[in-house]
Amino acid sequence: MPIYEYEPIGFPCPICENRFEVIQSIDDPPLEHCPTCGLKCRKLVSRAAFKLTRPSGADQAAKKGLSTFRKAGKGTWEKVAGPGVDIIQGTPEQIAQVESEKAQPARKKPIDLDKQ
Ligand SMILES: [Zn+2]
Repeated sequence: MPIYEYEPIGFPCPICENRFEVIQSIDDPPLEHCPTCGLKCRKLVSRAAFKLTRPSGADQAAKKGLSTFRKAGKGTWEKVAGPGVDIIQGTPEQIAQVESEKAQPARKKPIDLDKQ
């Protein structure tokens, strides 16, 4: 559901300060009074949709200093977000090792690099 932003009319809201946000269904009528303090308020329409975009997991990780990579090809990983190098390129030996590990049938839970 979208988050709508409201501002009080006339008085600054003593509890929510100057603005507050309410999660409402699109079909809900706009609030006429602040649900917290009861002062009259009005809906600010301009920013409603923007709040819906959440940062991706990669962006969250980047804020913590972690890098997220996605597989771009055999043995090649490109950075999605975060600090550090933009591309990780495995050596032919590393690629061969990963391929041979994948090929081992005895392993019940193979490490699937595609899903990491
Ligand atoms: Zn209020």
